[in-house]
Amino acid sequence: MSNARIAVLIVAAGRGTRLGEGVPKQYRPLLGRAVLAHAIEEVRRAFPEAFLTCVIGPEDRADYEAALGEAAPDAVAGGASRQESVFLGLKALTAQSPDIVLIHDAARPFGIDAVAGRLLKALQGGGFDGAAPGLEVPDSLRRAGPAGFTPVERAGIWRVQTPQAFRFQPILAAHRQAEGANMTDDLSVAEAAGLRITLVPGDERAIKITTPQDIARAEAILIAARGDVRVGHGYDVHAFAPGDSVMLCGVRVPHSAALSGHSDADVGLHALTDAVLGAIGAADIGAHFPPSDPRWRGAPSDAFLRHAIALVGAENGVIAHLDVTLVCEAPKIGPHRDAMVARIAGIAGIGAGRVSVKATTTEGLGFAGRREGIAAYATATVRLPT
Ligand code: MG
Repeated sequence: MSNARIAVLIVAAGRGTRLGEGVPKQYRPLLGRAVLAHAIEEVRRAFPEAFLTCVIGPEDRADYEAALGEAAPDAVAGGASRQESVFLGLKALTAQSPDIVLIHDAARPFGIDAVAGRLLKALQGGGFDGAAPGLEVPDSLRRAGPAGFTPVERAGIWRVQTPQAFRFQPILAAHRQAEGANMTDDLSVAEAAGLRITLVPGDERAIKITTPQDIARAEAILIAARGDVRVGHGYDVHAFAPGDSVMLCGVRVPHSAALSGHSDADVGLHALTDAVLGAIGAADIGAHFPPSDPRWRGAPSDAFLRHAIALVGAENGVIAHLDVTLVCEAPKIGPHRDAMVARIAGIAGIGAGRVSVKATTTEGLGFAGRREGIAAYATATVRLPT
């Protein structure tokens, strides 16, 4: 089995939006990076030699490419149900003709490395055609029914996780046979076709992100695995010029002047971008977006911050906190603070509780005090794998 050719199929075609943000949960950001991107990172670490394919919603192609950038694996359009999506993905893999396929849900981004070896071992020797990670249920169980809540015998009850591993040709045949049924996992499809299946010990970190509470648990798991804390600092100044509004932290603020600069002159987002770049030792905003480049003339500065956040993700890091202080006599920042926090959180893909926007004057001293321009100081706290 050590020379087995392995493929991993990540099922990311679900429309589940129970998290209430209108975007399917696999594209929801977790500390600066989409859930799906975290899952792919784990799969690549656990199975570095494997051929990787994602099954995505046909209408999600733009979200998919935005979430993964150049690291995006091949993607196949999914179907109306999870089972149909898996079948389409397996058919696409016939060109690779792997020995083993692991079928994994994108909404379960952690714990893959913990179960990888156990799954492959279970398929060694030919005793089983399929294996899945599972955990025994420690809680007492009750079934709701017309007679109230009646007890369920807990002994021997396991809850089943993904990835689920199969010999490729048998599971492909099983899916062909099961076409039109609506089974919730591939172990059931395999079993219906008479394949021999087993469970191996799963991992408590392999949570399925479904509810808003799961987001907090997922963030805690990400942070616990990243003990290398980096703090970066950024500073920027733009001068006032004739105009009627300024762009600050991604929010248009009416004012008696504009800010001059090559891009949209958003001094807050520029300082934040430099802080994030500083935290990962990735030079500064001018090195990534040269002012001499006409592409950035009048450009919205959120692209700069997004780029810096993506670089953190490429190092498998997460964004723990962003803090910016705007220095000016006017305009007043307070009325726009909440909008700025929400905008920065949205750009960075983190919760608003991880963003801070502050403002101060300089008591009339210096260029800010003379109302010649606005300065911004920022810090970014980034956590990288240890
Ligand atoms: Mg600037």
